[in-house]
Amino acid sequence: ETDRLTRLVNDVLDLSRLESNKRYHFEAIDLTQPIEQTLRTHQLNARDKAIELVQDVELHLPTVLGNYDLLLQVLNNLLGNALKFTQAGGRIAIRAYAMGCEPEHPHLATCVRVEVSDTGIGIDAEDQACIFDRFFRVENRVHTLEGTGLGLSIVRNIIEKHHSRVHLVSEVGVGTTFWFDLPVFQKDTPLLDGALNNGKTTDSPAPPSL
Ligand code: ATP
Ligand code: MG
Repeated sequence: ETDRLTRLVNDVLDLSRLESNKRYHFEAIDLTQPIEQTLRTHQLNARDKAIELVQDVELHLPTVLGNYDLLLQVLNNLLGNALKFTQAGGRIAIRAYAMGCEPEHPHLATCVRVEVSDTGIGIDAEDQACIFDRFFRVENRVHTLEGTGLGLSIVRNIIEKHHSRVHLVSEVGVGTTFWFDLPVFQKDTPLLDGALNNGKTTDSPAPPSL
């Protein structure tokens, strides 16, 4: 009970911080790292439930502009949900790959798309419209599963802070995929220029000669 209360309080605090005008530090992020960290965090839980966790991250994924802690929280919330709403024997995958941009980022050449998909219980069309609302939880046979219904509101808020949107595709009894695009970090981004290249070079080292 104390644990659940602590989580609720933390979630409410996170949400109010996100909804205030607090400024977050944005930098170039290699999403491979928070993705691996998230998978490690949930590994044991997945093994206990006999759920397969798959990591499918493109090699040499371009860095994106974002806040590490916030993106880690998004991945944790989405993976936590996937685990909670997927039965034993199921499969959960986190994918990340570079691609052309959606209309949300018309001025940028490419985005990184992140997908968290599961073979869980799914969400029907009517409920899909509400799941990002605060405290909304689908009434279903597994309503005994714990949670307060804040996780996805936090996800939506964080992705909006990154000037993007969360989408989902879901079918009851088949599974769910949540996905979002993040703008690829460009070296000439004015906000970050200089700060990032301090003492570092972005060029790869010359290959050793034979
Ligand atoms: P909390 O995240 O606060 O612990 P929660 O997980 O119930 O509680 P959200 O993460 O906001 O809340 O999700 C809202 C609701 O959306 C869930 O209660 C569930 O009904 C539905 N949902 C979310 N993710 C999935 C999923 N991967 N598969 C099926 N249903 C989902
Ligand atoms: Mg949740």
